[in-house]
Amino acid sequence: MAIVYNFSAGPAVMPKEVLEKVQRELLSYKNSGMSVMEISHRSSLFADIQKNAEGNLRKLMNIPDEYDVLFLQGGATLQFTMAPMNLAINKKKIDFVDTGHWAQRAIEEARLVDGIEVTQITSGADSKYTSLPEIDDSLQEDADYVHITLNNTIEGTAFKIVPTFKEVPIIGDMSSNILGQRYNVTDFGMIYAGAQKNIGPAGLTVVIIRHDLVEKSPDLPAMLSYKKLVAKNSTLNTPPVFAIYCAGLVFEWLLAQGGVDEMEKRNRKKSKLLYDYLDSSSVFQSPVAIESRSLTNIPFVTGNAELDKQFIALANDNNLVGLKGHRLVGGMRASLYNAFPIEGVEKLITVMEKFELEHKEVD
Ligand SMILES: *Cc1c(COP(=O)(O)O)cnc(C)c1O
Repeated sequence: MAIVYNFSAGPAVMPKEVLEKVQRELLSYKNSGMSVMEISHRSSLFADIQKNAEGNLRKLMNIPDEYDVLFLQGGATLQFTMAPMNLAINKKKIDFVDTGHWAQRAIEEARLVDGIEVTQITSGADSKYTSLPEIDDSLQEDADYVHITLNNTIEGTAFKIVPTFKEVPIIGDMSSNILGQRYNVTDFGMIYAGAQKNIGPAGLTVVIIRHDLVEKSPDLPAMLSYKKLVAKNSTLNTPPVFAIYCAGLVFEWLLAQGGVDEMEKRNRKKSKLLYDYLDSSSVFQSPVAIESRSLTNIPFVTGNAELDKQFIALANDNNLVGLKGHRLVGGMRASLYNAFPIEGVEKLITVMEKFELEHKEVD
């Protein structure tokens, strides 16, 4: 089998060792004679899988005891609705930091929740979201929480430092850089992430939430209620058993590799290679302001849609797949998640250099 480097933004590359382990255990999990896909979510086999997954995630992210960990479904997108319903309950106001597409999606969904007032306290729209907006305490209004998208998967920007907003909790969408760089959980009231970018297969959403916020949340239909889901330890109904199992294996893999700090080191090295090349190239450029650049999602362009297309075709011929940029921004995008090996970045740059030599004259 040829080596394929998968730059897709999500679902995305998973560690090969994890996939091999899944393969080895697929037909008979722990000598049970059953696949993980076939075991009961009420069995002790699954209870152990979930307990270990949660324990390892707590270790990786230093999650304190006063935070609950939930394994849910509905993607990050359902959290755009659940967070407002559960947490915007006193002032019924949410402040949003508008950093692009996913922040906008979160804003749109919050607006649909009855009786909630939504404010964009700052926006990167002026820069077409190629840089992050300035944030300071004075921006904060009298809201139940502030919502921030930590890593903007499409635009390729990321917050390195989490802003503080006095007493108001921060709810963070960490879908595309959870476990890829160090953040302090205690800076947040809640963190959520769809699994299919930096964790595992689609179908799982991780929610990390401070317990006092759970306690205060109102009575809601069960599947929309953090309180009821926490009370049932995420198994109020059938959880995504296979996705949780795979996520658990990824967490084990991350610990064996050296944890989040080691991942951040590798992600810095991988992204620096590509950014350094982009900043020196006469054909390719990064549209993103240097201080706002993401470690995990790196958009780049030639400035010519036809050349972009030719490059994507050449990359595909070289087994570099998933590089087509998001339809909203065009160009190319390299997603360098935890499981993406540095060799793939080196190969990408080699192919870009070759393309550059052939197209230098074209303007
Ligand atoms: C992919 C993504 C989402 C949407 O995730 P789903 O799990 O598909 O709902 C939300 N926010 C960010 C930052 C993302 O990258």
